[in-house]
Amino acid sequence: MSEQCIFCNIAQGSIPAQVIYQDEAAIAFRDINPQAPVHVLVIPRLHVPSIAELPDQLCHPLLHAINAVVRQEGIAASYRVVTNVGPAAGQSVFHLHFHVLSGRTFSWPPG
Ligand code: AMP
Repeated sequence: MSEQCIFCNIAQGSIPAQVIYQDEAAIAFRDINPQAPVHVLVIPRLHVPSIAELPDQLCHPLLHAINAVVRQEGIAASYRVVTNVGPAAGQSVFHLHFHVLSGRTFSWPPG
């Protein structure tokens, strides 16, 4: 846990968020500034700055959590999962998070 980290504080429950899923390894909550009708962030409870530092043993639990969120939200037919690494890629919070987006058409390549 990093006391300065907003997502650690959300995982601990000391900063409020609209939590929609949690298990031993992960927690998922609605993005405060949604970019699609469904925009959920899936994070590890452990403070990991980005996917580049993700320990192997958390890879499967996080994918499991993403799939659980997708099923729970009823979006399995069409959705996008994104994780940004580094400011140039758009990362603004340095606690690993997967954006799970759905409910509209997405363009490719991403901006
Ligand atoms: P990124 O720019 O990829 O690091 O994504 C960070 C995301 O966190 C953005 O989509 C923000 O809207 C979102 N965010 C920041 N603070 C909060 C918060 N307190 N609760 C929910 N989402 C947040």
